[in-house]
Amino acid sequence: MPDRITIALAGNPNAGKTTIFNALTGARQHVGNYPGVTVEKKEGACTHQGVRIHVVDLPGTYSLTAYSVEELVARDFIIHDRPDVLVDIVDASNLERNLYLAVQFMELRTPLVLAFNMSDVARTRGVQFDLPRLSQLLGAPIVETVGHRGRGVEDLLDAAVRVARGAEPPAPREVHYGREIEEEIARLRQPLAAEGAVDGDGDLRWVAVKLLENDEEVRKSVRSEAALAQAAASIRHLEAIFGDAPEIVLAGRRYGFISGACQEAVRSTVEARHTVSDKIDTVLTSPVAGLPIFLLLMYGVFSLTFALGEVPMHWLEHLFGWLAGAVSSLWPVGSDSLLRGLLVDGILGGVGGVVSFLPNIVLLFLAIAFLEDSGYMARAAFLMDRLMHRIGLHGKSFIPMLIGFGCSVPAILATRTLDSRRDRLVTMLVVPLMSCGARLTIYALFIPAFFAPRWRAPVLWGVYLIGVVLAVVCAKLLRATVFRGEAPAFVMELPLYRLPTARGLAIHMWDRAWMYLRKAGTIILALSVLLWALTTFPRKTHFDRDYAAELAAVGTRPARGADGPDAERRRIEHARHAEELAYTVAGRVGHAIEPALRPLGFDWRIGTALVGALAAKEVFVAQMGIVFAVGEADERSGALRQRLQETYTPLQGFCVMLFCLISAPCAATTAVTWKESGSWRWAVFQLVGLTVLAYVVTLIVYQAGRLVA
Ligand code: GDP
Ligand code: MG
Repeated sequence: MPDRITIALAGNPNAGKTTIFNALTGARQHVGNYPGVTVEKKEGACTHQGVRIHVVDLPGTYSLTAYSVEELVARDFIIHDRPDVLVDIVDASNLERNLYLAVQFMELRTPLVLAFNMSDVARTRGVQFDLPRLSQLLGAPIVETVGHRGRGVEDLLDAAVRVARGAEPPAPREVHYGREIEEEIARLRQPLAAEGAVDGDGDLRWVAVKLLENDEEVRKSVRSEAALAQAAASIRHLEAIFGDAPEIVLAGRRYGFISGACQEAVRSTVEARHTVSDKIDTVLTSPVAGLPIFLLLMYGVFSLTFALGEVPMHWLEHLFGWLAGAVSSLWPVGSDSLLRGLLVDGILGGVGGVVSFLPNIVLLFLAIAFLEDSGYMARAAFLMDRLMHRIGLHGKSFIPMLIGFGCSVPAILATRTLDSRRDRLVTMLVVPLMSCGARLTIYALFIPAFFAPRWRAPVLWGVYLIGVVLAVVCAKLLRATVFRGEAPAFVMELPLYRLPTARGLAIHMWDRAWMYLRKAGTIILALSVLLWALTTFPRKTHFDRDYAAELAAVGTRPARGADGPDAERRRIEHARHAEELAYTVAGRVGHAIEPALRPLGFDWRIGTALVGALAAKEVFVAQMGIVFAVGEADERSGALRQRLQETYTPLQGFCVMLFCLISAPCAATTAVTWKESGSWRWAVFQLVGLTVLAYVVTLIVYQAGRLVA
């Protein structure tokens, strides 16, 4: 145990530093100048619990930039002289402003104690602090003091000695600067981590942040040309996105951090908050008005996305339809070319189906980028935080889950806003249980086939609800097992509202669109080809029926149906397709897994369609159309519905929907989970886990349903 420690006192001017310094050291002090500069340096000493304490009074500052001598002196002392503990004297009656300096100390990762001085003034103004909570959020012990009465000074020394002895292990906290800035910090850390890249041994994250703030002193201390070049590029990039110098944006984020912490742990009985942001927040983060406003806004975003996206979506569909026609026309009518099948059904069909969702994705992300950049999303997350804590997740997890109702792929990408890896993984793993848009096509086919009109809406609502409930149960279960542990206290940053720049939004949008297109061009392309092959090979050459003869006979004898020779021809074609499909790998797999699926009430046809649904859930409907030989199946197809109705019971129909809801997410989701979690293991865990869950739940429902029925 050291019997001699150094405490440095820091704080905003007029926070009561000198008063506390005097209370600590009494008469034993002397005044000089810092070496080289004429800034007053006061030092003194005292003894506490047998420990001799050397106290240095640093110049009062509001910040730790390199712009003023006082700030540089304070910063250099902390970095180079390394006091055993830094005591930040905070004017508690003006907390948010004073915490700006505290947050910077926090980022420097010095052992820190906060003295909430002027606590008497704060109290008479009706401010109440949840000190344990605040101390947890800021990662430093907090002691309330009243300087000129000497109150709390002993406790302050206690805390300082505890921290200096390492008895209070620092729980490092950091400000999360938002996705774009964090990405640049990560980019900078790499060259900075190289041997000899930085003079001294400052915290690398801090050095990176300072470089982004264009801090001259820190820049001088960096020896790596690569790091300096990266810093310049990062600054330009951030300037383009935010339309402001990064140091201004970073300062804003720090205030957002403070604002979030205070919103959570400081109560004011007197209405003293008065900035515009505060005023807006009293409405937007209030539990009564906030939630309806939030739900309305999200509803607006979704309906706008689909309304505006419809037109370009049709263009893209037409474009791909035209392309398919153009490619088909290269072969003579009726010819049976493998290459044409691959190009038209495999590549254009698969990739086109995905690309046609691009307008929706782009618009959705534009809207979300707007809400995010304006500062609103932070409020929404704040609002949901308490609810999400119940299931062991963070308020920010709510946004990805919501996006999951549209599509799991962007939802999983949206988990990037989560700070804790554990929260991120849990959210990512359960997101597919939010019933996505593609699954809606399955419900749209099955529900009208099996349920009377007045039951349709409740059944649909029930299916969605089952997904949400299962997601909550799974999240809780994961947090209790694989991801056990106390949920870390995170500050929900509440940045000031601002109007997003067009350029920032454009960059956001382009990023997402490009990512999506790249996916369509790689993973989806490969899967489409694979799926096409599975549903094409091996090819059947000898058929059970002589289709050619049947086709030739159409028109020569009375048609079987009452709908003319064309329909008759189509029926024959479809029957041939069905026979072909049953012969392919997909059809055989369907037959092979039938025994395993029978306890769920499924036959080989459903099994075959489920294989297709692995590529994308929409494919399920198309595959059902093929196995039932009704062709051109879409969810509105009455013929397919009729066949389903004849073949299955409503219970079986419901079980199919249930299984499709829960089971293995589509290939794109699996691929994104793999990429975003950084390990294929999580993707496999998700795939297998959800499929097993689907099996168990469907089994229970089907068997129980049969007992009841
Ligand atoms: P410094 O600029 O941080 O060194 O601040 P000082 O120590 O000079 O204090 C500024 C003023 O605040 C002085 O008039 C102090 O008497 C007064 N002061 C210091 N601590 C407290 C406190 O806890 N409560 C109240 N009400 N006044 C205080
Ligand atoms: Mg002073």
